[in-house]
Amino acid sequence: MIKDINVKYLTTVIEECAEVIQACTKTQRFGLGSTWEGSSNFEKLTAEVGDLLCVLDKLVKSDTYASQLVEQSKSAKEVKLQLWGPERRGLKSEQ
Ligand SMILES: [Mg+2]
Repeated sequence: MIKDINVKYLTTVIEECAEVIQACTKTQRFGLGSTWEGSSNFEKLTAEVGDLLCVLDKLVKSDTYASQLVEQSKSAKEVKLQLWGPERRGLKSEQ
């Protein structure tokens, strides 16, 4: 059953995802401490993750049923990360 998830947030979610991707790739290329236009990659990454979490929170909270499904998915992902995540596989942090 399709519920009433508030699609007006989707464009903003897309934009914030793109900004997080950009911050991640800049960090991978130049490191957390590298600065550009007065901000470090660490500052840009944390700011963009915060922006994304904010809009995702609004999107999810716009529908109770969707919120329940998202929580189920988060729990399932936690299990997958414990089994197959980078720490489990012994991958080292880039920084
Ligand atoms: Mg942003």
